[in-house]
Amino acid sequence: MSDLPIRDDLRGREPYGAPQLDVPVRLNTNENPYPPSPRLVEALGRAVAEVAGGLNRYPDRDAVELRKDLADYLGHGVTAQQVWAANGSNEIIQQILQAFGGPGRTALGFEPSYSMHPIITRVSGTEWIDAYRDEDFGLEAERAVAAIEEHRPDIVFLTSPNNPTGTSLPLEAIEAVLAVAPGMVVVDEAYAEFRRQGTPSALSLLPGNPRLIVTRTMSKAFAMAGTRVGYLAADPAVIDALLLVRLPYHLSAVTQTVARTAIAYQGELLGAVETLRAERDALVGWLRGEGFEVADSDANFVLFGRFADRRAVWQGVLDRGVLIREVGPPEWLRVSVGTPEEMAAFRAALKAAL
Ligand code: PMP
Repeated sequence: MSDLPIRDDLRGREPYGAPQLDVPVRLNTNENPYPPSPRLVEALGRAVAEVAGGLNRYPDRDAVELRKDLADYLGHGVTAQQVWAANGSNEIIQQILQAFGGPGRTALGFEPSYSMHPIITRVSGTEWIDAYRDEDFGLEAERAVAAIEEHRPDIVFLTSPNNPTGTSLPLEAIEAVLAVAPGMVVVDEAYAEFRRQGTPSALSLLPGNPRLIVTRTMSKAFAMAGTRVGYLAADPAVIDALLLVRLPYHLSAVTQTVARTAIAYQGELLGAVETLRAERDALVGWLRGEGFEVADSDANFVLFGRFADRRAVWQGVLDRGVLIREVGPPEWLRVSVGTPEEMAAFRAALKAAL
């Protein structure tokens, strides 16, 4: 590759790379461990068969029906004109950067946070600015406001619940950011459905905040990571801006119908969320009982530490057939919440590895 006339700013970069290893227990990418039921598998097959006869034609470029379904799912008075969908929320974030970032512009996020925010930012030619969370991985409004006033970024990323820490933000912090941000404010709510009761969504701040974008995904709570559907809610003018950068027909007819079928089965799919929350809280309790430091989690994963040599612990757990994630601050590890059997395997592997 070094011989190629690749862009100067891409030289020396590493591709995103959570290891995809074939091990018995995979708890490293925050997927939902529950596969679709036989009933849903059948419905998905029927839905795909229905569009299959029309695959010689391009799909609905504006994904109108899917956006209606997503708006209904979101509630909060959100309309289809306020929703946009793409191949995963990563593509949503890329489109946001393409429309609102670019050379000469900046995006700011609060570390530790989702590693793709800076990667997508830089690939779009936008400058990334690191700001930092509090010691306990929360984010005090004052600290957030100070960073924004100092750097005046074109785009601010807030992630709530945050990956890899699991911590969520109070609405007041988001409101404080909205009050001072000179440009767009993106609240990445990929893990929204896993929050504990009483933690409100930034969706409730959409009225009156035309520069707020709330991103969501079907990869986590909806258990559809393989489908690749992410979406956002924002003022309709934001969607008009994204239409300028999206590729025509970016969302395949198969993707659209699979996503719509999954939404129609939301009762079944989201039914597992309560189970995963309970499993998460049990995991946090167990880890604390074992003497680990554990970040408060509103997501389907838990960040725990501290380890002088986290690589050795990660490898020790992997040697016992359980893949977790070496991510976030240097002394911490992240584990996704799986089935009860998977969590038992994780607990045994961790104890044996230490
Ligand atoms: N945002 C956050 C915070 C994430 O953790 C992830 C996935 N790990 C994404 C966005 C992207 O998810 P997807 O592209 O599957 O929607």
